[in-house]
Amino acid sequence: MSYPQDPRPAEANARPIFDVADMLELTIGRGHVERCGPCPVCGGTDRFSINGRKNVFNCRRCGGKGGPLDLVMFVRGVTFPQALDWLCGPRQELSAAEQAARAEKAEENKRRREAEADRHRAEVRRAATVIWGESYRADDTDVVRYLERRGIAPDMMPVMPSALRYQPDARYMVPDGSGWREIYRGPAMVAGVLDRQGWLSAVHRTWIDLSRPKGKLVLPVEGKPGETWPSKKVLGSKKGGAIRLHTPEGADTLIMAEGIETTLSAMVADAVPGAAYWCGVDLGNMAGQRKLGKGLKYAGIPDMDDAEAFLPPEWVRRLIFIQDGDSEPRLTRAKLESGLRRAMALRPGLRGQIVPVAVGQDLNDVLMGVGNE
Ligand SMILES: [Zn+2]
Repeated sequence: MSYPQDPRPAEANARPIFDVADMLELTIGRGHVERCGPCPVCGGTDRFSINGRKNVFNCRRCGGKGGPLDLVMFVRGVTFPQALDWLCGPRQELSAAEQAARAEKAEENKRRREAEADRHRAEVRRAATVIWGESYRADDTDVVRYLERRGIAPDMMPVMPSALRYQPDARYMVPDGSGWREIYRGPAMVAGVLDRQGWLSAVHRTWIDLSRPKGKLVLPVEGKPGETWPSKKVLGSKKGGAIRLHTPEGADTLIMAEGIETTLSAMVADAVPGAAYWCGVDLGNMAGQRKLGKGLKYAGIPDMDDAEAFLPPEWVRRLIFIQDGDSEPRLTRAKLESGLRRAMALRPGLRGQIVPVAVGQDLNDVLMGVGNE
């Protein structure tokens, strides 16, 4: 006798994860896309989040993560078969017609989620394009003075890269229930993130406050003493993209760092004459998806199935990643190695290299001749 495959796991994981969280009676916010709250396992206040669009959960602290079935296992501390029974009931011998109906239902859930994700991507891309269109040339603006504060004096960079622009009244929005709320409005450096094809896919903004030593806005989180909102945010789809700060004719070397300031510091230092300088927006974007699992955390092995990961253009023969010393060094290195290995696998002949910056300092700090703030 043959046992047909149990249809329940696919069905369970196709369920909206918010519904599963409700069944588990989790104390969690009511956001439309992302809901945060205390971790049901390790506590805290907002370290635990559930993303309804990706249908996954994640705890920043204890590392619990996964889809709806994983959530049941995580919260109830049960095995996979027990979680299945809890969520779907015991396995039933279904007729072929019932199985087909269930498979269709699961497929429909998945399609709906993907359509919603596509719609969202198109929407934020449009919003990014509007912001870019409304921003100004950065010459003679607070952007120049902000970069000067970060060690990049105007005479080091007489021509402002066209990838950087200025917005005098950038709105700082935070999630609020199912919508958004403006909590601040002020000057910002706007950087255009271009996708692989060279189209604007996102804007990266740094809110400027020249009364601060590093020139960045410090925005306290209401009701949470000591906590501040990040001074930098990305709107749009940054995946696989880069902020193309400088791309000289005939370049065959691409130098990349996570931050705009670090990339610019390397650029004005003219470390490799004739090289292009692109900012990778963030480490995860430079790394792409990695193979994870037992013993792989620091292995730096790229998941080659990640079709959206950053990939350097065809003209790049030498790819140099700058490793900032101010984040966790082993993990940072593993991520950068993942990105380089993907690039080397997909661009035969390309040489990859990581340039570490002294621990506790980023290149920008080194250039400024100061330590940490
Ligand atoms: Zn946790």
